[in-house]
Amino acid sequence: MTSWPTLLFIVGYHLLLFITVPLYLMDKTPALGLLVLSGVLVFITGLGITAGYHRLMSHKAYKTNRAVEAVLLFFASMAIEGSALRWCHDHRLHHAHVDTDRDPYSINKGFWYAHILWMFSKSRAIDLTLVSDLNRSPLVRFQHRYYLFCFLGTNLLTYGIVGWIFNDWYGAFVWATLARVFSLHHLTWFINSLAHTWGSQSYSREHSAVDSYILCLLTFGEGYHNYHHTFPTDFRNGIRWYHFDPTKWLIWTLAKFKLAWGLKRVDDVRITRQLMQDHCKVLLEKLQRSYHGQKDQLEGKVKEIHESVVLRLTSLQDLITESKKTAREDMRNLAEEMKEAKKALKEEWRKWKVIVRQIEKEKEHATVA
Ligand SMILES: [Zn+2]
Ligand SMILES: [Zn+2]
Repeated sequence: MTSWPTLLFIVGYHLLLFITVPLYLMDKTPALGLLVLSGVLVFITGLGITAGYHRLMSHKAYKTNRAVEAVLLFFASMAIEGSALRWCHDHRLHHAHVDTDRDPYSINKGFWYAHILWMFSKSRAIDLTLVSDLNRSPLVRFQHRYYLFCFLGTNLLTYGIVGWIFNDWYGAFVWATLARVFSLHHLTWFINSLAHTWGSQSYSREHSAVDSYILCLLTFGEGYHNYHHTFPTDFRNGIRWYHFDPTKWLIWTLAKFKLAWGLKRVDDVRITRQLMQDHCKVLLEKLQRSYHGQKDQLEGKVKEIHESVVLRLTSLQDLITESKKTAREDMRNLAEEMKEAKKALKEEWRKWKVIVRQIEKEKEHATVA
């Protein structure tokens, strides 16, 4: 069953954009300020989706107050990506059933299906048990019930302000409305299509999500999608300080001003354990494909060292958890234990690095031969 309103809206505004842009350019050159402001609006409405719909509402990665929630809903409404209740419902289904038939935008149905075509099928009814937490928010309920008013109101208001600033009503429609919505839509849709196709799978190969630095630049940090699908409740998608993730920086800044709290962060030990687990699988697969003479022996060694590293990581993680509950005066003994645990981990890690290098070298010999 086709969802005609969505199909007509999306096809309609694409056609309108492709007609109005050349007509506008034949008539005049857009003011630089108008183009810059349109770009800024793409960024702000994008953050409304990523920090609002995605990390706050779909994943509960942090908490905030009603005022911030209202601001995020305002800009997310302007993005015209459906109500928060609908968006988060579909996104939670995507995470719970990724790459299966129950995933609303499964990449297994093709790149273009995941990018845009899935929206043209009649959307399934919202299962309120999946979003009961969100349904308790009066703001979310209001936005869902009066969605037409919300998306039209926010866009008309912005159009009016931009048109008035530049005294260019046609330009405000073409650049700050049509081109802005077009850009943000495709950038958001890239997360469902490109971020499940093009990139690396460092954390897990259990799902199709990938990490791509280039995509991060285009999607306000959402391009670290392999990490995100592996640890969906982390408020960060790019976990290193230098990873381009403006959504994470916004949430962090809000927290500094006490406007966000309860930021969920997966600890480094758990992340390393996951990375190792996946790396171990890759190594064993490589070994299976190689022609190494003592394959079984080497496989046993890899498993043994891997288990040993994981054991030490787990002990370190337990000590870190314990230290959070320990009073300051009792910390001395625990600090000593943590020091020992780190030393033991370092030793096993060194052995792991040696065997990784060895297998990678063996694989090269096998490939050349
Ligand atoms: Zn995904
Ligand atoms: Zn997600």
